[in-house]
Amino acid sequence: MVDASPKAATSPARVIFLGPPGAGKGTQAGLVARHFGVPKISTGDMLREAIAQKTPLGLQAGPLMEEGRLVPDPLLIGIITDRLAQADCQAGYVLDGFPRTLAQAAGFGSMAVGRQSGGLLVLNVEVPRDELLRRLSGRRWCPECQATFHVHNDPPKQPGICDRCGAGLIQREDDKETAVTRRLQEYDERTAPLIGYYQERGGKAFHTVDGYRPVDTVFAELKGIVEGAL
Ligand code: AMP
Repeated sequence: MVDASPKAATSPARVIFLGPPGAGKGTQAGLVARHFGVPKISTGDMLREAIAQKTPLGLQAGPLMEEGRLVPDPLLIGIITDRLAQADCQAGYVLDGFPRTLAQAAGFGSMAVGRQSGGLLVLNVEVPRDELLRRLSGRRWCPECQATFHVHNDPPKQPGICDRCGAGLIQREDDKETAVTRRLQEYDERTAPLIGYYQERGGKAFHTVDGYRPVDTVFAELKGIVEGAL
């Protein structure tokens, strides 16, 4: 059983998740955020919401995301600057999917919240490449409430139907094979360098965890790391 029940934090939990697509960052970020009572901020979810609302950001991001390409840095830095300025982030936050490039990391570092690096933790989740491919190809998504399932690892009670809201599940365009190949290439070329970047700057605040284990085992380790840092 995953125990992600909220816990009052003594100091703000500020967490960045790093890792390739399919490593389970979204799931773990959600559990950590809930446990420590801070918002989970997923740039992927924010962009998908913008696409659904057909905002100017969504119209620009949509075609890039479908192809598995990264959305331009200034757009991401803009949405994160606005989001982190909101009141609910004062007590901490968990970032899922940002930063994804060195330029975004530099942008984050120069934001007011990024400069308060005291409690910033970077959690890097590692999973072997063949397992990433298996996870991404089996992933199913609810376009209504954004819940995710997996045909083998986490199937919905009724095949093809969202447990949470009853909508029909789909395979995200960017979970299809060509886009997945592109996403992994973007990760290798543009996101993986962040590991060295934060390792150099982070010292004890940088941790790599093995994500090729059951969700609750990974979460227990992450919870211990965050608790030890608060
Ligand atoms: P995710 O749900 O985190 O896998 O993100 C889905 C897609 O959204 C990515 O493949 C990118 O196209 C886009 N995206 C999300 N976060 C970022 C980011 N920080 N920088 C650039 N593109 C992003």
